[in-house]
Amino acid sequence: MSLKKLRVLLKVSGEALMGSRNYGHDIDTLNGISNDIKEVCDLGAEVCLVVGGGNIYRGADASTLGMERATADYMGMLATVINALALQNTMEKHDIHTRVQSAIPITTMCEQYIRRRAKRHMQKGRVVIFATGIGNPFFTTDSAAVLRAIEMNCDILLKGTNVDGVYNVDPKKDKAAQKYTEITYTDVLKDNLKIMDMAAIAVARENKLPIKVFSINKRGNFAKILQDQGEFTLIRGE
Ligand code: UDP
Repeated sequence: MSLKKLRVLLKVSGEALMGSRNYGHDIDTLNGISNDIKEVCDLGAEVCLVVGGGNIYRGADASTLGMERATADYMGMLATVINALALQNTMEKHDIHTRVQSAIPITTMCEQYIRRRAKRHMQKGRVVIFATGIGNPFFTTDSAAVLRAIEMNCDILLKGTNVDGVYNVDPKKDKAAQKYTEITYTDVLKDNLKIMDMAAIAVARENKLPIKVFSINKRGNFAKILQDQGEFTLIRGE
């Protein structure tokens, strides 16, 4: 099936880059994700990414240890730049043309975020990797993913995680956890399901951005989920 005319934002959490490691990057995982992205590009879709930083640094965790929250969050944003460069490097080895754009100017390493420029890159078949989230402390890369998806006029946001969808309780802690096939934004908020932060879900609801939550650990899943195959949960309006 062709995915021409489809524009998609893939959110890659930092943790998804660790593979079985406890910190940083696993090279096989980076290669696997790059392969999956290449497959979707080859099907004709326009792709952009928002990358997290939780495999290296999380502002909220550091602030509980006494670090000022805003400073810790800026450090977290720098972690997303490391991940963006790691992904860029691997993706280029898979013959994917890429650009990294950062919300915070880091001009010797990557482009600054410019909405119209990012769109142009995508029209030319380049994958744009958005780094430093929205560029403000007290936010997460989930909020950035929703915001950028809307700004880029994406048809859909795919959130790649370590689980294969949204569950009523944490499936890693409770074997009786049940997965939703579909769930509304309102129910995610009402039931306080911790699949994405609440601010992100609220903005997605307001802008009617469909979100599919899926496991990024299964190779080939990115293309499958876009074609409504495999395991995922769709978050949508009423
Ligand atoms: N962060 C931020 N503003 C943003 C995006 C990220 O301050 O717009 C910081 C925040 O400290 C966060 C860290 O960057 O903990 C890493 O991002 P995130 O936790 O969203 O990464 P993920 O969980 O997706 O790996």
